[in-house]
Amino acid sequence: MLKPTIMKFGGTSVEDADAFRNVARIVMAAARSQPVVVVSAIGGFTNALLLSVEKAIDGDARNATKSLDSYFERHITIAKELLGNGSRAAVESDVSEAKREIRQLHKIVAAHPVTSPPLQDEIVAYGELLSSRLLAAVLREEGLAGRYVDARRCIKTDENYGCATPLAETLAATQSELAQIIERNEVPILGGFIGSTGAGATTTLGRGGSDYSAAIVGAALGAREIQIWTDVSGVLTADPRVVAEAQTIPVLSYQEAAELAYFGAKVLHPKTIQPAIDESIPVRVCNSRSPHERGTLIVAESEAAPQTVKAIAHKGGITTVQVTSARMLGAYGFLRGLFEVFDRHRTAVDVVTTSEVSVSLSLDNVNALPEIISDLQELGTVEVERRRTIVSVIGEGLRNTPGIAARVFSAIGDINVSMISVGASSVNLTFMVDEAHTGEVITRLHRACFGGEASAKLVETQVNEEVLA
Ligand code: ASP
Ligand code: MG
Repeated sequence: MLKPTIMKFGGTSVEDADAFRNVARIVMAAARSQPVVVVSAIGGFTNALLLSVEKAIDGDARNATKSLDSYFERHITIAKELLGNGSRAAVESDVSEAKREIRQLHKIVAAHPVTSPPLQDEIVAYGELLSSRLLAAVLREEGLAGRYVDARRCIKTDENYGCATPLAETLAATQSELAQIIERNEVPILGGFIGSTGAGATTTLGRGGSDYSAAIVGAALGAREIQIWTDVSGVLTADPRVVAEAQTIPVLSYQEAAELAYFGAKVLHPKTIQPAIDESIPVRVCNSRSPHERGTLIVAESEAAPQTVKAIAHKGGITTVQVTSARMLGAYGFLRGLFEVFDRHRTAVDVVTTSEVSVSLSLDNVNALPEIISDLQELGTVEVERRRTIVSVIGEGLRNTPGIAARVFSAIGDINVSMISVGASSVNLTFMVDEAHTGEVITRLHRACFGGEASAKLVETQVNEEVLA
């Protein structure tokens, strides 16, 4: 049997009739590579469903359901544009059924106005339930042997509603639900993001969870490739809003992709591709608006062109805190006390650098900053700097090629940098700059690493040096 290809389409790839038509074209073109389709809710619907739950908690069940009308309508409009009479009527009845059930659930929530994670998941899941049914109908209309599958029969999870974890039995459940369909050369179409507990209650895998579903299904089926279809051209070398000449990265290692996600790039969350990593299945990020581009392929390290810098990531709005105390010199227990402060105030620390008598830490979330500062003052002198940007140069090349750091810093030699660190994985070189310098720093580093005007191409120079060595 041919190894299947998982094709996951995000919300922006299914926002209207044109988008559905486009998805159908992409799947049809891949019909010979045994596709298995995973689809998100139509764009914006998950947010709206979550908001509707809040409205119901506020006591207004009628308005809660009403707030979803435009989304129900959108499904119907898409069905009208793309489906013949029979299948259109079926979709219309799916939508009115969903509306009726959601209405009942809203009433229950309004009658017991506390957040009920199980009820919330039950409601939110309709986003994916409806989009997957609709997409299956559209694909069949186009002549593809599409088969709707209720993803809750495949993805079996614990009871951690809102952010459930898939259980081991998912493997067998997914295989037994999908294998026969695939053997008949039909194309399974399932909603992402949703699963169910052993007792049959609906769960969701956390926001953006459709990517995770795709990876889980891919791992269970031993897929040839997992494709994440979105509205950008793969993973880019920098944020295109900052660097106009940012380019698609052709190949990344799993590790590099994870580092990029940690440092603010909007790529796949590392957790979502773990099932793919475990089975060494390549993950490709593709642009549904430009389907002929190859996008970015994410693979194991050995296959991922390890001699290069791959991307410059950054994350603004960072606050750094420096604690200085002579008591640190030769003492132990100091760092523990320091980290306990952050623990107590439930604040995550991203980057940490230390010297003999001072520790610098970076924070993204400053809700508890006043309390944190006052606790830290018991340990030493505290200095706070706001409006900082974390810059991270990412690539296996950092591990493998000497001299990259020197070149990175010489490109921005006149700009003050602090908190320089190299990731434990050695595939990132990270430092802080003032937020006001972000554009300048990222642009210059990008030129230094990937070319552009009058600058040495870091990647090429590297290769030359190796040839000479
Ligand atoms: N529809 C869900 C969300 O918006 C899952 C997904 O799209 O990945 O979070
Ligand atoms: Mg999404």
